[in-house]
Amino acid sequence: MTISSAERRFRSRLRPALAALLVLVCALPLSAAAQDAAKDLRIYFIDVEGGQSTLFVTPAGQSLLIDTGWPDNNGRDANRIVAVAKKAGITKIDYVLITHFHVDHVGGVPQLVARIPVSTFIDHGENRETTDADTEKGWKAYQEILATGKYKHIVPKPGDVLPIEGMQVTVVSADGNVIADPLPGAGEQNSACNDLPKYPEDQTENRRSLGSVITFGKLRILDLGDLTHDEEVQLMCPVNKLGHFDIYIVSHHGWEQSSSPALVWGIAPRVAIMDNGAKKGGSTSVLDIIRKSPGLEDLWQLHFSEEGGTVHNTPTEFIANPDGPDAGNYLELIAHPGGSFSVFNSRTQKTKEYSAQ
Ligand SMILES: [Zn+2]
Repeated sequence: MTISSAERRFRSRLRPALAALLVLVCALPLSAAAQDAAKDLRIYFIDVEGGQSTLFVTPAGQSLLIDTGWPDNNGRDANRIVAVAKKAGITKIDYVLITHFHVDHVGGVPQLVARIPVSTFIDHGENRETTDADTEKGWKAYQEILATGKYKHIVPKPGDVLPIEGMQVTVVSADGNVIADPLPGAGEQNSACNDLPKYPEDQTENRRSLGSVITFGKLRILDLGDLTHDEEVQLMCPVNKLGHFDIYIVSHHGWEQSSSPALVWGIAPRVAIMDNGAKKGGSTSVLDIIRKSPGLEDLWQLHFSEEGGTVHNTPTEFIANPDGPDAGNYLELIAHPGGSFSVFNSRTQKTKEYSAQ
């Protein structure tokens, strides 16, 4: 078979053109969306039925789990955490932060470590509620895990910054102590401290909660575990030591011993996310305080609160698990480096966007 000189000329021109096209295709950057996704912080609010379990996955690929939910129930809570970790594309958890030693926070640790590798545990130190049998039991089970020597262990103090890459986590409360001075940019008088009730000192592990301020670019997120009113006012009155927030992870599952107006109205969050159960947390008074908070755009809830009823709960579209059989739906917050973020409800499969401010 012979090739005509015209065809040879055509082929000789075509080859470099094809090569050039190939180079161009290979050199094309990732799509804008894929590139942006790699820079996002993802936060998963896992439904552990009125306990806490919140998973952060940073753009640096590191993960922080705040609390592990309850024990027992055939590993229900650990299974839900692992399912969400899989969705997030992680196969181990770098840091597990235990806010305090109540069983709805530390209880899930043994079942969790049996299912997914964990590198480091962070907590406030000793159990201070040794008189409560359930708390002591959960604490001892956790101590046995630490005693295996397989894990690093950090016991930070207020003011410490945790060694997590891709976001800044500053401890603001631990073991009943709080930061002495306002955080950078904070420290203004808090008008929500006027007519402050005299809150009694909480005698449980709740007031020992390891609370943290998480910043990601301009975005500020507050998680205080189950910190009670008496400790909140130490952070917020007469001056607001914490500043304002984009996102408030509602303390104590929305129970009425936490989330004073001094805290909520002082930090003035744009979005509040409550890890309540159907019958645990979600107190009517707290639902009202949050929904009245100046500048609040939306309250999201993991469950419809039976106590709150339709009048006080947030609208159904913002609830992951409405009244009825429980499906363990989660909420996912995606934070972009420029300060904008979105919240995804795994039940409705809908996402709401929030622009940067
Ligand atoms: Zn709790």
